[in-house]
Amino acid sequence: MDFSLSEEQIAMRDMAKNFAEKKIAPTMEEDEKEHRFRKEIVKEMAKLGFFGCIAPEKYGGNETGYLAACVMTEEIARISPSWGLPFNLQMNSIQSVLLNFGTEEQRERWIPKLINADLLGCFAITEPNTGSDVASMKSTAVETEDGFILNGTKMWISGVPVADLGIVYVYTDKAAKHRGMSAFIVDMHAPGVTQKAIETKLGLFCAPTGEIVFEDVKVPKDCLVGQKGDGFKICMSMLDNTRLSSAARAVGVARACLEHSVRYANEREQFGQPIANFQMIQEQIAEMYVEEQAARLLVYRAAANRDLGQRNTIEVSCAKYFAAEVAVRAANQAVKIFGSYGFSSEYPVERFYRDAKSYQIVEGTSNIQKMIIARNVLGLK
Ligand SMILES: Cc1cc2nc3c(=O)[nH]c(=O)nc-3n(C[C@H](O)[C@H](O)[C@H](O)COP(=O)(O)OP(=O)(O)OC[C@H]3O[C@@H](n4cnc5c(N)ncnc54)[C@H](O)[C@@H]3O)c2cc1C
Repeated sequence: MDFSLSEEQIAMRDMAKNFAEKKIAPTMEEDEKEHRFRKEIVKEMAKLGFFGCIAPEKYGGNETGYLAACVMTEEIARISPSWGLPFNLQMNSIQSVLLNFGTEEQRERWIPKLINADLLGCFAITEPNTGSDVASMKSTAVETEDGFILNGTKMWISGVPVADLGIVYVYTDKAAKHRGMSAFIVDMHAPGVTQKAIETKLGLFCAPTGEIVFEDVKVPKDCLVGQKGDGFKICMSMLDNTRLSSAARAVGVARACLEHSVRYANEREQFGQPIANFQMIQEQIAEMYVEEQAARLLVYRAAANRDLGQRNTIEVSCAKYFAAEVAVRAANQAVKIFGSYGFSSEYPVERFYRDAKSYQIVEGTSNIQKMIIARNVLGLK
């Protein structure tokens, strides 16, 4: 199913598929067991131009667009959801923010280094007591003569503790509520920044997630993105891009679960015949197939709209909500089709089952996506 992918997009998809199968798959099971993040994989992805899709050539990008990025992301997540994360960390977060809201000096300074993965990125919104309600965050930046002093704790941040650079959302004026939030580019090795891994995760074992503590961190003036008070607007705009990528990863998981299930159903015999012959298995496969196709179409539509320069918040929420639910359902079906082998870490469906759950949570939970969609459909503010 090629939607209307261009030759260039098809070539990029094939390159990503080849990369995932040749460079990620061979060591993946061992890396998963060891919870191992490998920077060299991100570097190799960078060399192939994976993180240059949204930036112009003058910053080292290739401007192939969001749809190209999504088709590549799906291919990587199909092999390992963990390795789909760098698309967001290197590209759809900091880069997209700088391209939309940064100064020329900020773009030149940071975008090339994110594209070639000299710097590993992260984006920090969530706090111990702040998730869906972004405006309830506690972190602050107080302005001084030569910059800002940042304090606070961010939680569940992808890419931590190996991040070099972060886009961090904090209040510069708490009383002004949404209009008092600001966005800063923060050097994650600056004095006062502590990164700590969260070791108690359900899945995504090759993609670190962690906590960041900011204690009187000095942030220079030129690291403020946009104006003071622009943070909430910048954050919501950024989420349109990171959510899209998360939806593309979910499609990769749904596809992987379908492919593994089809192979297994044709091989596994019970009652003297392949289980593929049983109508109830066929029903499961048919549902997985239709849902996977539908989720991909929603992702492609949202990405294509973005490439046309249209605001695509609703399309992204539809894609993110549906793809996340489909990935979880597909993984659930796959584990059932595999029977007791689905319960074993010797087969990949168990890993997809765990990793898929992340899509219902990250970048705004499924409830939050439904809230955005419903408010739009109902014409509510
Ligand atoms: C693997 C992983 C990686 C992550 N990476 C990042 C990252 O890189 N950067 C970052 O900033 N954050 C990151 N997060 C955090 C993630 O974005 C938040 O967990 C998410 O926004 C949900 O917040 P919460 O967990 O605090 O849930 P809560 O907001 O506490 O929600 C709890 C439950 O209540 C529901 N709920 C809340 N409000 C409403 C409402 N108004 N209506 C109906 N239901 C509601 C939610 O849907 C959920 O079911 C990551 C999380 C995970 C698990």
